[in-house]
Amino acid sequence: AVEARDVRFSFGSTPALRGATVTVAPGEILAVMGPSGSGKSTLLHCLAGILVPDGGEVLVGGRRIDDLPEAERSALRRDRFGFVFQFGQLVPELTAEENVALPLLLGGVRRREALTRARGWFDRLDLAGLEQRRSGELSGGQAQRVALARGLVAEPEVLFADEPTGALDSLTGEQVMDLLVGSARERGTTVVLVTHEARVAAYADREVIVRDGLVTSLTPAAGRP
Ligand code: ATP
Ligand code: MG
Repeated sequence: AVEARDVRFSFGSTPALRGATVTVAPGEILAVMGPSGSGKSTLLHCLAGILVPDGGEVLVGGRRIDDLPEAERSALRRDRFGFVFQFGQLVPELTAEENVALPLLLGGVRRREALTRARGWFDRLDLAGLEQRRSGELSGGQAQRVALARGLVAEPEVLFADEPTGALDSLTGEQVMDLLVGSARERGTTVVLVTHEARVAAYADREVIVRDGLVTSLTPAAGRP
């Protein structure tokens, strides 16, 4: 499980999380919803060990990660987590396939094998032919699909996805969600999915709402496909 217990975090004098508590069960797909500025991305970044909370605890598999030295947290992120960030955050100088291969390369996989595994994602994401394109020369939707492939390529235990369909039209968004959820279910990947869109949240097992820095409501998943 991935858990936040009473997590507090401020950006300077701006409180972003004011005591957020949530548990994501192993293999669960959790949708995190809520208004803009409510603290969704901050919660995701705290759960993923990217931000260190000012108070409270973050646990992964029952072990606290918020008090680990940064080197250990960064190894944990590299070895067990995958990320799809809200703003894509591809490396513009690298090709699309190099961007997808990046987590493998950082994990010590040799370049040839990493690129082969990376290329395997292009067909599935309807990106065939774009492998060699610099990522700065992709459309927003293409870049977001490349970012999704990069998040999944190393078969992470936990995938943290922040608005992964934000730049996609609704049909492509559905294709991406089918793929994200399909791969996650196949491998038992735990997914923390931040989204504004109810249609995207409908893919999750469960939803929580973040409001004003607190996880305020748990809605049972209704009418799931
Ligand atoms: P959105 O749906 O717009 O992405 P969010 O729910 O993800 O919003 P957060 O990004 O977590 O919201 O932001 C929570 C609060 O923290 C907001 O008040 C925001 O203005 C503030 N905040 C976020 N990032 C920073 C930052 N880098 N520096 C200062 N304040 C920040
Ligand atoms: Mg956000």
